[in-house]
Amino acid sequence: MAFLPFFISKQSKLKVIIVGGGYAGIAALTTLLRYAPDTEVILIDPGSYHLKITHLHETFRYPLTDLLVPFSELESRYGCRHISAKVMLDQALLQQYQITKQIRVGEEVLDFDYLLVATGCENRSERHHQDGVLSLSDFTASSGSELLTSLLDHQSNAGQYINVIGGGATGIQFLFEIKQFLARIRSKASLRLIHSGSRVLQQFPVAWSRYVETRMQEMDIMFCPDTYYCGQQTDTIRLKTKHTSEHFELPSSLSILFLGKKQENLFTANAFGQIVIDDGILGNIFVAGDCSQYQSLGSNSQTAQSAVRKGKLSARNILRHSGLFGLLEPYLHQELGYVVSLGSADAVGWLGSEMNIMTGVPAVAIKELVEAQFDLLLSGMDTYLV
Ligand SMILES: Cc1cc2nc3c(=O)[nH]c(=O)nc-3n(C[C@H](O)[C@H](O)[C@H](O)COP(=O)(O)OP(=O)(O)OC[C@H]3O[C@@H](n4cnc5c(N)ncnc54)[C@H](O)[C@@H]3O)c2cc1C
Repeated sequence: MAFLPFFISKQSKLKVIIVGGGYAGIAALTTLLRYAPDTEVILIDPGSYHLKITHLHETFRYPLTDLLVPFSELESRYGCRHISAKVMLDQALLQQYQITKQIRVGEEVLDFDYLLVATGCENRSERHHQDGVLSLSDFTASSGSELLTSLLDHQSNAGQYINVIGGGATGIQFLFEIKQFLARIRSKASLRLIHSGSRVLQQFPVAWSRYVETRMQEMDIMFCPDTYYCGQQTDTIRLKTKHTSEHFELPSSLSILFLGKKQENLFTANAFGQIVIDDGILGNIFVAGDCSQYQSLGSNSQTAQSAVRKGKLSARNILRHSGLFGLLEPYLHQELGYVVSLGSADAVGWLGSEMNIMTGVPAVAIKELVEAQFDLLLSGMDTYLV
């Protein structure tokens, strides 16, 4: 059992329910059991596995199964219990849960000492189900290579156009993987990026955009900036220019949507991770990950890095809150770097400071290191210093 400063347990068999088995939920689970192995943890998630979603674009190279960690495996590794269900969560229900210290899941009423909400954030395109249109959720069900092969098989590839919609980090990572995949299968289909902004990766420094757009030109990826997606028809895509609102169509066989995250169902927390509703603190209910906004100096970016740090902090604070001193630790984590991969051998990112830009193999190596660190956490080895 590892030592947690400012924590002396005053109660054995603490009952903790974690809602959501993504990065934040899993980081909390492993942290709780590292410092207090006798904690009774119930993990509730409608799925049957944790998905290492930060690798999802790599399923053009590797099987999707490589990214799935069955919750049953975590149950036997950590002695926790997984319940496959979707928990109803809104402000009124959370206030009720704080009073009753119970949640109802199906027929079962579950008691808890602490509840951690780690439900993530839904993507904007998740409810699209239309022929000729794919979105992120399709890639969580089948690997990219399978999806594209089955769609391209129907017609001759020459003269086909595949559109990636959205030039944010996720869209760009998929774009380069798709380009390399098309080259590997010798497809003659053309690839085009449709983006509502004037440059790709707009949230990052201009130098990133220049680097990525140059690579796109070298790889014959067409680019339509300042353009809105309006819909995919049988063999055309409907678009609208941002500045003149003029509608136009281009040939298209497939549109793949990466429209970013919906900023819905976000919960506000104090600096310690406890949910705050109408200025009232829900002392026994914590929140972490993409669905949380902490009122603190730490980073609220919707990244796996922040999700892991918030999940770990929430777990430590749950234990401290339950212990003798009740002294909690504020969330101060700042992003240490961020890397966007551009296919198997290239990437662009920063380390330490946004101005310290890295490209090529060193950037790929940093990304792999960060992801390996989370894999180690999953296997029970915590190598995070901050
Ligand atoms: C393709 C892709 C690549 C990315 N690459 C990077 C990267 O390189 N670096 C980086 O830092 N970030 C990256 N991100 C962002 C990162 O994945 C997210 O910030 C991170 O997954 C957030 O973790 P989370 O635990 O908050 O939510 P999630 O990982 O989304 O997990 C939420 C979990 O909650 C469950 N859930 C939802 N609602 C309920 C409910 N009502 N009841 C029960 N369970 C529920 C879901 O099933 C899910 O398992 C990437 C994202 C994508 C999509």
